[in-house]
Amino acid sequence: MQLERNKPLNAYNTFGFNTKAEMFVEAQSIAQAQEAIEYSKKNALSLTILGDGSNVVLTDDIPGLTLKMATSAFFIDHHQPGAAAIDDNKASDNNTCSVIAEAGVNWHQFVLATIEQQAFGLENLSLIPGTVGAAPIQNIGAYGVEISSSLSFVECIDCESNQLQVFDRDNCEFAYRDSIFKRSPPLQLGNAGFTPQFKQPRFLITRVGFTLQKQFEPQLSYAALANEIALRNLDKPDAQTVSNIVCDIRRSKLPDPAKLGNAGSFFKNPIISLTIQQDIQKHWPDAPCYPQADGTIKIAAAWLLETAGWKGKKVAGGTLGVHDKQALVLVNHGGGNGQALIELATEIKNSVKDMFGIELEQEPRTLPEISHPV
Ligand SMILES: Cc1cc2nc3c(=O)[nH]c(=O)nc-3n(C[C@H](O)[C@H](O)[C@H](O)COP(=O)(O)OP(=O)(O)OC[C@H]3O[C@@H](n4cnc5c(N)ncnc54)[C@H](O)[C@@H]3O)c2cc1C
Repeated sequence: MQLERNKPLNAYNTFGFNTKAEMFVEAQSIAQAQEAIEYSKKNALSLTILGDGSNVVLTDDIPGLTLKMATSAFFIDHHQPGAAAIDDNKASDNNTCSVIAEAGVNWHQFVLATIEQQAFGLENLSLIPGTVGAAPIQNIGAYGVEISSSLSFVECIDCESNQLQVFDRDNCEFAYRDSIFKRSPPLQLGNAGFTPQFKQPRFLITRVGFTLQKQFEPQLSYAALANEIALRNLDKPDAQTVSNIVCDIRRSKLPDPAKLGNAGSFFKNPIISLTIQQDIQKHWPDAPCYPQADGTIKIAAAWLLETAGWKGKKVAGGTLGVHDKQALVLVNHGGGNGQALIELATEIKNSVKDMFGIELEQEPRTLPEISHPV
């Protein structure tokens, strides 16, 4: 285990904020990750897990030990059907294959590799930044598909016992941008009576299993994708074409974090009641609302921000702001910091609450996260 001290994190978060990790370790294996967890417990260090930093806001230096999984293998087994958790009827047939990827694998490279090796189902999730290990945390989703639709299991280290534990899909409690891993109460107590000031993660994801399809079926429920395919006169697009189109649409809409610091969508699309929807549509008949299966309504957070006048605004001396093409994306124009970004997010939340009576929920995790006494 190679520990680095005072490690600058500006290249380890896509906002590019300048903070440091007191201690930093990249685990090349599960055994090394367990060693790091043990080390943090023995030395009463708070533990923080970082992937590629594309869904975090770093507001300060991270105390204790920051652990990043640097494992990089994945395996596609065409002879092994995907796990039964996906679909009992299909699992025994010849249409699916089992795919297992380690936590440190880059998500987009992994998606491209599955397509190349004729294992299908992840095309619509092309170009989402980050690692395989972080993908189940918020059940990543895009263009009408969520990772939960093809995931079969998640293997983790339970940081409390430091033992491996496997969750099959049904036990991951997946929901819109949510899972048991995002929700599970972080550990408040370490060993030897150690009470860290910062929240401790409960689960470190080590490997993710998928059930993918051997035959490609485009998933075109999302209108923007279906329209683009129709516009290009593609009758039966193959998987690589769908992936390329998804990448094209994403590049046209979202700023590239390598050029303009951001963490993608900053707020989740709120779920509202029919009564609130009716109230809003009295004033704004064109408000984009999407009925959900359970009778609730999803409303586009980007529209709320745009209507509240935030699109393109700059704050903190022009260092931070709201993207001028996509209001849901907060950006670091250069020289901004995480604390000021959280202040901007709070101002936005307050103004949306005042105007529409809707509570916005932040999507990226703020780190370090102060622990409140239990
Ligand atoms: C330009 C842009 C576009 C995006 N588009 C989308 C999109 O379309 N859909 C979508 O869902 N998301 C999107 N995101 C958000 C982000 O890409 C995903 O949430 C991604 O899964 C985060 O991966 P990461 O490795 O960067 O995780 P990080 O940001 O490093 O970590 C995110 C959280 O996961 C935890 N974590 C990381 N790795 C592990 C692990 N191995 N075990 C346990 N916990 C872990 C961290 O502690 C943190 O709480 C976008 C982000 C950007 C910058």
